Amino acid sequence: MTPEQLLQQDKNLVWHPYAAMGAGPVFPVVSAKGVRLTLADGRELIDGMASWWCAIHGYNHPRLNQAVEDQLADMAHVMFGGLTHEPAVRLARQLVELTPAPLEKVFFADSGSVAVEVAMKMAIQYWQSQGQSRQHFLTVRNGYHGDTFGAMSVCDPVTGMHSLFQDSLTQQFFAPAPATAFGQACTDEDIAQFRQLMENHHEDIAAVILEPIVQGAGGMRFYSADYLHRVRALCNEHDVLLILDEIATGFGRTGKLFACEHAAISPDILCLGKALTGGYMTLAATLTTEKVSAAIANHPPGVFMHGPTFMANPLACSLASASISLLLESPWQQNLTRLQEKLETGLAPCREHPGVREVRVLGAIGVVELKQAADMNRLQPAFVEQGVWVRPFGKLVYLMPPFIMNDDDLEALCAAVVQVVHQHT
Ligand code: PMP
Repeated sequence: MTPEQLLQQDKNLVWHPYAAMGAGPVFPVVSAKGVRLTLADGRELIDGMASWWCAIHGYNHPRLNQAVEDQLADMAHVMFGGLTHEPAVRLARQLVELTPAPLEKVFFADSGSVAVEVAMKMAIQYWQSQGQSRQHFLTVRNGYHGDTFGAMSVCDPVTGMHSLFQDSLTQQFFAPAPATAFGQACTDEDIAQFRQLMENHHEDIAAVILEPIVQGAGGMRFYSADYLHRVRALCNEHDVLLILDEIATGFGRTGKLFACEHAAISPDILCLGKALTGGYMTLAATLTTEKVSAAIANHPPGVFMHGPTFMANPLACSLASASISLLLESPWQQNLTRLQEKLETGLAPCREHPGVREVRVLGAIGVVELKQAADMNRLQPAFVEQGVWVRPFGKLVYLMPPFIMNDDDLEALCAAVVQVVHQHT
């Protein structure tokens, strides 16, 4: 198939994320290695997106490839009902060791959104076991937790999809988004409305659900660890479960292995995904405590009611184990410090531009927030012209490169952002 035929058929046949059928420029990619994507016309792009937070080790990594090949020789998949296998058990053990106590029970799901659904269902079933019908959730504005119905119901009501699906979504409790920036102490005022909602409705709230420290798709905002710390304390005070969605932040992205470590807290339920498999294939996990799992087991029907067909897919679990080992064997903390410094210096010139509202960096996340939404149809090809893959949304031009990116490539990536922001905004 020529690139032209591919594009024509793509336009006719396949949907792209958050897009109209057949809309927008798309670029055919033929391979990816290290931090580079190769387009069908031979151009190489430095990847600034890590395929939406995922490809932390870069693409086509020999260790990850080997993990897939080894597993493929044994079995690609078997059902998980009534069967088990070493890849699943090994990965569960690694995840329990890696995540903060007292998380010690693992449910494997097939995508981040499903992991969130699972977490919400766990919380509801937990309260049923306590003889309480708590069917609602408390969260903050500007959140994003996925595209399925439960997850959508706790996404930001304005930037999320509530207006489209209003009558189909459960009404949840929303506090304002945390206003205190990362690194600052949270004021009583900032958490006042959250506290009020908790005080007024805790008997109806199964769990609080939050993205810890970084609100991703809902605005790429970095908020105070102290805020998160206070949320944990309020959950304890009012006997409400805490679900943390670390699907985007997990596995080192914010400079800590998990973002909740910035606040030295742990949730009752934790969602992981994205970088879990190093970006090779879809897998997610929902972890919880003995308290929650035992309560569900000890109350009729005595089972947790979820079981995806591809639960604990052996290929994905083997990959995830290899990806975690690779991360832990690397000097990932020093590396994250280096990435943070390079993103800071590299994106700093954007601060001078009148169209830029703010530049912020945390770990391997660099954000240039514009004053006005950018025209994607102009910006996207402009980045490709500069030899980089950056996909802005709305007012946000942001980078989340693979952790293995070297200094030269990071400088080139940031320079391209500076250039495009200056020329096109
Ligand atoms: N939660 C967060 C914080 C996310 O960033 C995402 C994905 N963007 C999801 C949940 C949903 O994950 P998935 O796309 O794998 O369903």
